[in-house]
Amino acid sequence: MAETIAVSIDKNDQAQKPALSGLSLAQLEKCVLDLGLPKFRAKQLHTWIYAKNARSFAEMTDLSKDLREKLEASFRVPLLEIADLEVSRDGTRKYLFKLPDGKLVESVLMRFEDRDTLTACVSSQVGCAVGCTFCATGYLGFKRNLTVQEIVDQVLCIQRESGERVANLVYMGQGEPLLNCDNVVESIKLILNSVGIGARHITVSTSGIVPGINQLAAANLPVTLALSLHAPDRLTREEIVPITKKYSIPAVMQSVRDYINTTRRRVTIEYVLLKGINDSDEQARMLADMVQDLHCNVNLIPFNPTRNNAGEILYARPSIDRQKRFRDIAGRTGKTVTIRLERGTDIDAACGQLHNKYVLGQT
Ligand code: SF4
Repeated sequence: MAETIAVSIDKNDQAQKPALSGLSLAQLEKCVLDLGLPKFRAKQLHTWIYAKNARSFAEMTDLSKDLREKLEASFRVPLLEIADLEVSRDGTRKYLFKLPDGKLVESVLMRFEDRDTLTACVSSQVGCAVGCTFCATGYLGFKRNLTVQEIVDQVLCIQRESGERVANLVYMGQGEPLLNCDNVVESIKLILNSVGIGARHITVSTSGIVPGINQLAAANLPVTLALSLHAPDRLTREEIVPITKKYSIPAVMQSVRDYINTTRRRVTIEYVLLKGINDSDEQARMLADMVQDLHCNVNLIPFNPTRNNAGEILYARPSIDRQKRFRDIAGRTGKTVTIRLERGTDIDAACGQLHNKYVLGQT
């Protein structure tokens, strides 16, 4: 059984004060100068927040009691509140975070058995406008973009709660990161400089937003790009990833090639396997041809059943035999094609599922 951890939400006036967690050093300097404090205090705060995972000013024991009280009177440390937390049998931790305006987003912390490091998956928007037909977040519709601070504090909240360092970061939670590209790029810079996760350990996933892929390439951050392709043919992709009507498969593949040429990074092609929709031999052959000359790995993701707003499950997962046959055909040109190891299937770890369970009461 998955364990649900009860979380006490701070009901006092903390939520009214500006939060410091997730701010850059320059922003922290402005905060301390506004309070009439010397600039070097910002560096101390930065160390406590980013290196020592402090949850409160009370923990900052190299600051005097008077200074801690002064900071406490004007600021709080965490921006996000944990509204819900579920822990899977495999150790995956799924967080539902409450934003300052009361909206909810999800993040996940995963440990893979073949690696000794932790991977966090963060959200970039509340809801999503892309509307992929197999995605629980897509059913929510788009609410708003997350701020830079809201993105970065997801990582810091995870580190504070789990007591562990996040080594790998993927932008694969709620939302289409490249429809919030300015804030995503700024959050990556802050994570590189302050959290200390290297660019090669950061992956940005997109459904194929051509201007966003180009902007990310121009930002000169050698992060990994993951393209959620999900179908090699126009009709199927238009059906399950509707943004294809705006950004065609050839246009998206060209921008991915440009990204590789600019960054010299290998991309990841993500492909969710939906029974009877995109898992045929013919589609596997088309996928193999499409990626043959691309500097990429292909990641097959067996569908994790999700309900739409009406409570219906629209798709099914192909059998293990079909998954393996698809993998073998898609890899016939020598590309690395893997079936993704699943994490947290007992705790609704697909994006949008915990939110829907919490808000819509779905099980
Ligand atoms: S899969 Fe990603 S891009 Fe598609 S609706 Fe869900 S969150 Fe949006």
